[in-house]
Amino acid sequence: MFAKIIVGLNTPQVDRVFDYEIPNEWEEFCKVGVRVMVPFGRRNTKMEGYILSLSSESKISKGKIKSIIEVLDNGQIMFTPVMIFLAKFMQKKYFCTLNQCFQVSMPSGIKTKSVWLIKLKGEPDSAILDDTHREMITLLSKYPYGIELKEIEKQWGMGYEQIVAKLEKQGLVYRYQKVWRGEYKKEKTVYFFQKDAFNLKEVQEKAEKEKRLEGQRQIFQLFQNRAEISLDEIKKENISLSALKTLVKKGILLEKKIEERRQVFHENKYAPSIPFLPTQEQQSALNQIYSIMEQKEKKPVLIHGVTGSGKTEIYLQSIDRVLSQGKQAIILVPEISLTPQMMERFISRFGKKVSITHSRLSQGERLDQWKKARDGEISIMIGPRSALFMPFENLGMVIIDEVHETTYVSDTTPKYDAREVAMALVKETNAVLVMGSATPDVEMYYKALEGDYHLIELKNKAGGGQFSQMCLIDMRKELEEGNRSPFSVQLQQSLRETLKKGEQSMLFLNRRGYATFVSCRSCGHVMECPDCKLPYTYHAYQKELLCHHCGRGEQNPAICPVCSSKYIRYFGTGTQKIEEEARRLFPEARILRMDFDTTSGKHGHGRILEQFQKGQADILIGTQMIAKGHDFPNVTLMGIMAADTSLYTPSFYAAETTFQLITQGSGRAGRSAKGGKVYIQTYQPDHYAVVHGKNQDYIGFYKEEISIRKLMGYPPFGIFFSILVSGKEDIKAESWANKLVEHMESESHEFMIMGPVATMQKKLNEEYRYRILLQGTEEESLVAFILEHMDKIKKGIENDIYFNLTLNPRYIV
Ligand code: ADP
Ligand code: ZN
Ligand code: ZN
Repeated sequence: MFAKIIVGLNTPQVDRVFDYEIPNEWEEFCKVGVRVMVPFGRRNTKMEGYILSLSSESKISKGKIKSIIEVLDNGQIMFTPVMIFLAKFMQKKYFCTLNQCFQVSMPSGIKTKSVWLIKLKGEPDSAILDDTHREMITLLSKYPYGIELKEIEKQWGMGYEQIVAKLEKQGLVYRYQKVWRGEYKKEKTVYFFQKDAFNLKEVQEKAEKEKRLEGQRQIFQLFQNRAEISLDEIKKENISLSALKTLVKKGILLEKKIEERRQVFHENKYAPSIPFLPTQEQQSALNQIYSIMEQKEKKPVLIHGVTGSGKTEIYLQSIDRVLSQGKQAIILVPEISLTPQMMERFISRFGKKVSITHSRLSQGERLDQWKKARDGEISIMIGPRSALFMPFENLGMVIIDEVHETTYVSDTTPKYDAREVAMALVKETNAVLVMGSATPDVEMYYKALEGDYHLIELKNKAGGGQFSQMCLIDMRKELEEGNRSPFSVQLQQSLRETLKKGEQSMLFLNRRGYATFVSCRSCGHVMECPDCKLPYTYHAYQKELLCHHCGRGEQNPAICPVCSSKYIRYFGTGTQKIEEEARRLFPEARILRMDFDTTSGKHGHGRILEQFQKGQADILIGTQMIAKGHDFPNVTLMGIMAADTSLYTPSFYAAETTFQLITQGSGRAGRSAKGGKVYIQTYQPDHYAVVHGKNQDYIGFYKEEISIRKLMGYPPFGIFFSILVSGKEDIKAESWANKLVEHMESESHEFMIMGPVATMQKKLNEEYRYRILLQGTEEESLVAFILEHMDKIKKGIENDIYFNLTLNPRYIV
């Protein structure tokens, strides 16, 4: 038998897939997805690999093919066929290596590590050596168990390699590889009662009789109606450990080390909850979902429902049905909304069947949750996008909450979109996909209206709660009237009243995207490219405005070209500045700030939210992090500080993002019967995203946005493709970008080709970067065109120029 094995997972930029022979003794353990050790390269370095496929023959000749050394993990699968399918899907979709896809989809912390050591071989005859070599021998002789090459380098300095190589050639030293595995396994000792032991009666009777055998008596007591007890439990009873040892020696107890799975929560901290009686809307949604579960072709479901409309309750009851069919479910949530409150709802309903995974857990904790899914110990996994890669046996449903969230797109290679991967996953496993949002992307809503998804609308709040009162504040007028503070007069007043009533406020600062546009604070005018109608991006380095769409550039104006005011501003205000100002205005208020600076650590953001929920603060200031998922009944005021910051990011999605943020933000106030007020501070009170946001009119916004997209050929009516060309030398990177454009332009009449343009952060990690943007109407032909030209041009290229391909980039920076 032979196996195709992917090796060398520590070099993700290349895929090394080779044939290996399977020795007879390993044959029964070699399954697809199993982890093995194989010899690799000239020195036959032991490396870890994964079996991708098996076959009875190989094209490699008998003498040349190498054999598998060992099967790891007792032959347990580390990649299910579905996970391998997903890795291949991602490889193709996101233009990267299979290896890179495995990196994100494999369980954390299982990788094998190894080093090469040099060791002396007996006593060399010093007569045949010169001084340098003798000195090296002296060094090596200090390490009877071998020394790492790195250590030799440290002690010896340059040139050690040739000396070691010569000694090796003469047979005086040899190299060997030390391998160790970080399995992050946690073990516990357990004692099993051997009720069939031949001497049981005799030992027990003796223990009853003799006073000094108190310890044994206690142990027999413990095992009266249990078959196994852990060492920890026995220790808690203060029983003598020597009695325990004696009973093991006599064969009454069997001692075993068994793997313990780490708990990431204590379910007894959560009071059990029972399902709500569904509202009419919820029941109709559930009926649709139940019926889709029985259908052969399962179209994804999109639930469009305002905050508080009872989507989560629908998820819970659908999952109940999934479990009753003996299947499992995955719930994706944006990482920051995985709050104690969110966990509580699932754990209190499903208890131990639930597990959770996220980046703030330790590697061992995460690996254990993964194993629980593989071994059928849990049926529900909640987590951010990586929770998709769970090795469930019989997946029945994937739920994506807040499906519009941009955090579902990974920002490191492979830059996968968890929503696309989830679609591939449910197709492959025949599971149901349920997506929920108060503000679905217009692209997704469009597809739902076109019939690609089942659309479920929830219009009412399920558990009472009220819609907030929305007020728009024109910040241009504030400036006119001499108020230069980021707090409008109305907001200040309202904050004061809320404080007086003992209620809480939230101040939300929109920092999504890249605040590098330039605008006028007097009239609100934003400097934009006259051709593309997209905002210019400010390049501080050249003091220039650049359009990242078409490459047009302009000098940065000193005064506003519309109203001649000199109040031109470049960047949005930070949360810190808002905090300072709030402390100055409301010295008596207790203020908390939550942003990336204040939320480091395992429980950083959880702690701040908990403090706020417990009423230990009056005002919470934060970015996107505070705008979602949290239920604070005592919050009656929400201030959206600069609602339109996100409008002027160079992105086709800018208006949509702004509308979504206003809507999400407004959902935070008025969670209880007290109702709530939302202030939207803006320099653009007439912009349709702001106006519809204020009116909480999703459909109104959708109609306007989709017609603009259609007019401009933006998604879903057009496809964009970005090629980022980067290299250590500026001139080279630019000239290759130019070459690629010339090459493509000479052959295409079908696609728009724009650029190259230096990116906003032109120099990043010592590399210079240029962006080319292509626009077409159909994905397949555009991708094929690009790949063809990349292939051609790459042939002549130096290997220090890199190309990074992204379909429909979120930002053009
Ligand atoms: P969403 O996920 O759409 O924001 P939730 O499921 O969180 O909505 O529901 C909002 C509130 O309404 C929650 O406090 C929840 O407990 C309550 N709720 C949900 N469904 C019902 C129902 N059928 N009857 C009563 N209360 C409900
Ligand atoms: Zn102006
Ligand atoms: Zn332009």
